[in-house]
Order: sequence, then C-alpha cells, then structure tokens
Amino acid sequence: MEYQTKAIHGGIPDDTGRGAVNYPIYLSSTFCQEDMEHFKDFVYSRGANPTRAAVERLAADLEGARFGLAFATGMAATSNVFDLLQKGDNVLINSNVYGGTWRFVSNLFERRGLTYEIIDDFNTFEFKHLSPNTRAVFLETPSNPLLAVTDIRKVSRRAKEQGLLVIVDNTFLTSYFQKPLELGADIVVYSATKYYAGHSDLLAGLVLLNDEELYQQLKFCQNTTGGVLSPFDSFLLMRGIKTLGVRMDRHQANAEEIASYLEGREAALKVFYPGLTSNPGYEIQRSQASGSGGVLSFLFNQEEYDMEIFVKSLKLFGFAVSLGGVESLICRPATMTHESYSAKLQEQIGIRPNLLRLAVGIEDKKDLIQDLEQAITRARK
Ligand SMILES: *Cc1c(COP(=O)(O)O)cnc(C)c1O
Repeated sequence: MEYQTKAIHGGIPDDTGRGAVNYPIYLSSTFCQEDMEHFKDFVYSRGANPTRAAVERLAADLEGARFGLAFATGMAATSNVFDLLQKGDNVLINSNVYGGTWRFVSNLFERRGLTYEIIDDFNTFEFKHLSPNTRAVFLETPSNPLLAVTDIRKVSRRAKEQGLLVIVDNTFLTSYFQKPLELGADIVVYSATKYYAGHSDLLAGLVLLNDEELYQQLKFCQNTTGGVLSPFDSFLLMRGIKTLGVRMDRHQANAEEIASYLEGREAALKVFYPGLTSNPGYEIQRSQASGSGGVLSFLFNQEEYDMEIFVKSLKLFGFAVSLGGVESLICRPATMTHESYSAKLQEQIGIRPNLLRLAVGIEDKKDLIQDLEQAITRARK
C-alpha cells in the first residue's frame, strides 16, 4: 500500500466486530482480568490502552517501523528517549534544535550526570576523536529555525562505526517526506502536536524504531514515568493522520511558493528553505527526502521596513509559536521558540533578532501571498 492509503487503512481495524470505520475510544483506566494466572493484553492504561495501541501501530506502519510509542507531548517522547542514557554518557547534538530540546539538554542533563556537545555541522564532523563516553547523536533535519540540512545517511554510517545511537527528530518533515530509519537512524521522535495531529487542537509525541531491545527499554520507561497519550487524544491523532499526506502536499506547495516570493522581495534579506535551489542543503535534501515541508524562515530587512508593523499587519498569519496546523503562523524565534538559548549562543548559531519563522498552512496560496504583500507595503519605512 502507498502512504496515503496506509494512512487511512493502516494500523489496527475496529476489532469489536461492529465494522466501525474509526477505531473506538477506550476510556478505561483499567481492564478486568481472567483469573489469578491469566492476564489479557490490556491491564492498566498507563502500560497500554487499545486506542493508544491503534495509533502507535498506525504511526509505525507509516514509518515502516516495527514499533511505535505514543506520548502526551513531543517533549515527553524526547525525554523518554533520553531516559535510555546512563549517568556519564555524552550526546552530540546539532546546533539548532527545538528550543524545548535545548532547554532539556542545557538544564536537566547536568542533574542527570549526562553531558552534551553542540555540533555546528554534522555533515563535515569527524567522528574520529570522540570522548570515550559518547553514546548518541541527536539531530534535527531540517533544523529549527534555520532549516539547515544534515545528511542522515552519512551521519548514521559514521556514527554507527563508533557504536553510537542515532536519534532523529523528524517533526518538520514527518514520515511522509522523510524516513530516517531507512536512512540508517535507530530512533525517530516526533512532536505529533504538529503535522501528524495537524489541527492545533492537541499535544502528542511519537517514538518509532525497529530494535526490539531498545523498544522494551523505552516501553519500560514509558510505563514507569507515565507520560502517555490519552485515549481521546490518541483518537484525535488518528483522525489527523488520515489526512497527513494530503495536508503535507499542500503545506509544501504553499511554502515553496512563499519561499520563492520572499526571495524576490527587498523586505527579506535571506530566505531559509531547503526546497530553494539557493539553499546549501538543497541537494542533500533531495537525496534523502521527497519534499521540504511547510516551514521556512527569513531575515527581515529592518533598515528599510518596520518588523513590528509587518507582523501586526498580517491578517492570515497568526503571531504564535508552533507549526503543522492547517492555519498559517509566524513567530520570532529569538524571543519565542528559542528564548531558552542564551543571547550569546543565539548569535553564535545564527538565530538573529530579525529572523522570522513562517509555518505555512493549507489556505489558498494566493491569499497568503497577498497578505504578506500588503503587510510588507504597510511596513515600508
Ligand atoms: C514542538 C516540537 C517539539 C516538542 O513537542 P511538544 O509536542 O510541544 O512537546 C520537539 N521537536 C520539534 C522539532 C518541535 O517542533
């Protein structure tokens, strides 16, 4: 089955025998067991719940993965993956990752006896002289918010030679555009709050992988720490996933159009989008993904335009963090999504105060461009 067919027919069909086209919501915290000796598949919903199991199966099918785990948020998913690490372990992480991941690494790692190193460009990084306690690579490609592309195949190969675990946050592209496990990664994490759910109406996280031993460890941690996705949100997430492919095509078509439009405008000094031929990551992106997604960012020309007026004048782009919903959003990473990075680090990795990030929705692209155009006109000094 092709992707969009699997999105609708994959996962676990209704197993009540009633022929419901949607998997039922099991709002039950606990399940009665046969007798003292025999326990059924579902015992207590922190450990496993049928509706959660259905969305875990669906997400795993779409990823081409053996195992899936669903969490209450993307950060719960990432945190669970970090629970695989032992005291003393070191993690290599790419220089612009999601602000929440950075907050985790820069605040909680020390308390847990873990260390990290920021890698500016994994594509050229030599894996030869690692500190001996290095255990994992954590990367996000395209990165957030500068959309820098990392060659997953190359990094996975090199990291594996050193016995490292490769973890990829694939939130920006989803399995529709990019499948990191097929490119050599060990674990994929998602904020399913974004494109998978797709309607900005729930928080969710996913972890997908093929290795059974790692899966058992993660499942143990999930049950122990308890950040699971609720049955109701599992249902909503499945509902979102059914249209994932259709939405991603539209997000991308709109983003491509807007990226090209902005590239020709004086108000945008530089546009970051891996689907632009001018982007240094363009070729790698094409070699490992079937699309570039719906997020782009650009440096706003503050000399000649007023950024405040520009943002305020937009009618269709809500001024908000997040991405992946049907509606378009705009945010300023330096003070919003990436405020957990120090000013010095922001400067070092290129998150400038005049950087704006667009999460392009699925509205009509003509209206979106018109909206940007009128806001630029108003903002002209
Ligand atoms: C939003 C986001 C997260 C965190 O997910 P939550 O669902 O908000 O906890 C992690 N990674 C990326 C790339 C994100 O965009």
